[in-house]
Amino acid sequence: MNASAGPDEVAYLDNAASTPLCREAAEAMAPLHRELYANPTGAHCLARATRRRIDDARDLMAEALGAEPGEIVFTGGGTESDNLAVVGRYRRAGGVPVCSAIEHHAVLEPVEHLGGRVVAVDSTGVIDCEALAAALDEDVTVVSVMLANNETGMVQPLSRVAEVVRSAAPRAVLHTDAVQAFPWLDVATAAAGAGMISVSAHKFGGPKGVGALVVRAGVELSPLLLGGGQEWGLRSGTHNAAGIVGMAAAAEVVVKNRDDQVVRLARLRDRLAGGVLGTVEGVVETGDRSAKVAGSVHLCFEGIESEALLFLLEDAGVYASAASSCSSGAQDPSHVLAAMGYDRGLAGGSLRLSLGYETTESDIDRALAAIPTAVARLRAHGPG
Ligand code: PLP
Repeated sequence: MNASAGPDEVAYLDNAASTPLCREAAEAMAPLHRELYANPTGAHCLARATRRRIDDARDLMAEALGAEPGEIVFTGGGTESDNLAVVGRYRRAGGVPVCSAIEHHAVLEPVEHLGGRVVAVDSTGVIDCEALAAALDEDVTVVSVMLANNETGMVQPLSRVAEVVRSAAPRAVLHTDAVQAFPWLDVATAAAGAGMISVSAHKFGGPKGVGALVVRAGVELSPLLLGGGQEWGLRSGTHNAAGIVGMAAAAEVVVKNRDDQVVRLARLRDRLAGGVLGTVEGVVETGDRSAKVAGSVHLCFEGIESEALLFLLEDAGVYASAASSCSSGAQDPSHVLAAMGYDRGLAGGSLRLSLGYETTESDIDRALAAIPTAVARLRAHGPG
């Protein structure tokens, strides 16, 4: 693909951090800026026309997520959806929140802040369901387990988790952060056992700063924002109409193309991961590739610092990342790798290459040429 900053031709392999806006989303959003700009809560025809676009978007998101339109709450992105699920549930029901140790900080921090319990994962980065059962009781009011991890790409056994929650925590609502899963998995089916589901538009070809939380009928939740009472009182504030419409357009494209993209990108992903493992010594692939979402490659290089590697890769026109894009820097140890039992040395040499709908064969060629060279150079000269 082409990107304007840096070298003429780059391989953008950081789609888990964010994706380019798809054409369909851009086209759907355009009229909302200059023509359908009225506040959708208004009474006049322009307001009603904007509201209709939001209603249509709500129908599309509901279909894509296996929910009813009245169960969709539009939010300001994945972080807000996660916070609303955990903190909103705690505000309404009190008790104890629980989550896995590999959750995104948007879940982990609220859970820890509220004095919740954090459940261990195994060495492949999958939640330990026995440890989960042991952490649950009558006091637990919300359990948050993500559908796919943002660093490793590992898919979590959500149906099993739902069973455990149902039997061991009768008051608890299961929330799943499906932010990284949506481009790859049929979330409507995979998250059918969850009472709340978070997604974020910019991870699947939609705009930044907009997301959704599914809140199934009967789930009791308090809002984080108080005000005009939009979104069934759960998310006050004038709707980001363009963002919502753009997200729904992108979601429609994802659902339509998902099966084909998964096949195409899993093949490219396997070529990339296999190529690096076959040419570079001292590399560990985290987790179990057959249990990952299709676009994810996550490797740890012995004796390498991620920051230095990312720097050389950028020079060669390969844009990737080390851990989650939301950490303040590559030098922060990954809490996900720590939970999987990786020591700081190996975790410090992690590389996440995340493919997306625009990734091509030549992006993989570029990465396969650049990575062995960069690693060899760092090993020959040391990190300095
Ligand atoms: N949850 C996961 C799993 C993510 O990967 C991210 C973003 O990296 C978020 C939540 C936060 O989403 P947003 O950037 O829309 O706030």
